[in-house]
Amino acid sequence: MATVLDIAKRNPNAAPVAVSDAARAAGANALSIEKTAELNVVAGAAPGGASLVGLTRDQLKDSLAAIGVPEREHKMRVAQLWHWIYFRGAKDFSEMTNVGKELRAKLADAYTLARPQVISEQVSKDGTRKWLIRMASTGPLDKGAEIECVYIPETDRGTLCVSSQVGCTLTCSFCHTGTQRLVRNLTSAEIVAQLIVARDMIGDWPDATPPEGAFVPNDGGRFVSNIVFMGMGEPLYNPDDVIAAIDVMSDGEGLTLSRRRITVSTSGVVPQMERLGAEANTMLAISLHAVRDDLRDVLVPINRKYDIKQLLDACRAYPGLSNARRITFEYVMLKGVNDSDADARELVRLLKGIPAKINLIPFNPWPGSKYECSDWERIERFSEIVYRAGYASPVRTPRGRDILAACGQLKSETEKLRARARMMAEQGIGAEGVYAVGNGE
Ligand code: SF4
Repeated sequence: MATVLDIAKRNPNAAPVAVSDAARAAGANALSIEKTAELNVVAGAAPGGASLVGLTRDQLKDSLAAIGVPEREHKMRVAQLWHWIYFRGAKDFSEMTNVGKELRAKLADAYTLARPQVISEQVSKDGTRKWLIRMASTGPLDKGAEIECVYIPETDRGTLCVSSQVGCTLTCSFCHTGTQRLVRNLTSAEIVAQLIVARDMIGDWPDATPPEGAFVPNDGGRFVSNIVFMGMGEPLYNPDDVIAAIDVMSDGEGLTLSRRRITVSTSGVVPQMERLGAEANTMLAISLHAVRDDLRDVLVPINRKYDIKQLLDACRAYPGLSNARRITFEYVMLKGVNDSDADARELVRLLKGIPAKINLIPFNPWPGSKYECSDWERIERFSEIVYRAGYASPVRTPRGRDILAACGQLKSETEKLRARARMMAEQGIGAEGVYAVGNGE
């Protein structure tokens, strides 16, 4: 059992190893920090092996070489594909009017511009949209991994919360995703494809229009202007693909998202933090949630490997850190657990010297969770102490709670709904009814 749990400790990039249910159960009993993946996918592979959507420039070049495009043309052809796929959102090679007919035919013979399938869309009362997305099958053992992706529109920005893993290796005790087994890491193409799907769904391409009645930013900017890696998974346990995906998303000739509008949230994978800053140059968020190691060991068990001091030292060393590039510390408000005045004062003391913003997150309950959300007065009092010490301390408005799209609620409920859908189908009740029930929970 210990061997199983130690795999990711020794090397976060180690190929995951399938474990027996017995070993898994033993690991769970030992209050495991991490779970292991069941199926590995080659990093950077195109979903399904045939779609060009989500690929990096190098991967596109390889795809062109594979169908016999001469090397001298690679740069120009990649630029053409890049423009059509990432700037215009082309869904068919026939749209690529500046690519010769012969090459278009060759491309269409060998590849597609297919997106991952959207299995369901739920729209919250507040305009938040949650999509259940099925990735292409990667082989005979894979039916197509499913992940969730959430779009949060505001008047002046549209934020897309993307997943980096299917399930999660970690076991944060307040997080519903953490109760699920890790299935596998997503490839960079699959991470980028979440943005492509979102732009398809809300009409965020030149000449496209948003769906009837959709709430999208009205300041004239892009409908997706910000990305947060706060969906399913720990991004820094999949750093190669996360960094490659950020390169594609921020490329100025395609999807053109500013790196300053991309935030990677980690529970504290200390050895990968400097690399993230140096290579991806994005904003950093830390899931802190506790100010004492004994409590953080329980709430965010990776703390037993990298404690609060190590984590904050890594924050101080984060490349590019300045008052203009502050680190966001996420702090979930749990009634009677981490929400006292003393906790707030200790938080301020710990963060001294780090350009920081503290996001207070009212706990989003999920079925079976053992925590309650702090009372509103307590959250305000906590926020006040932090604010008086000179830190911005916004209380994050829960978004999409009615469709279980809020922080820490992703994925599991979908499985539950799908299980219930199967049961109701057996009883002759339609799936629409099931989702109507789910929306009210
Ligand atoms: S909070 Fe993040 S890292 Fe922790 S279990 Fe949930 S998804 Fe995984």
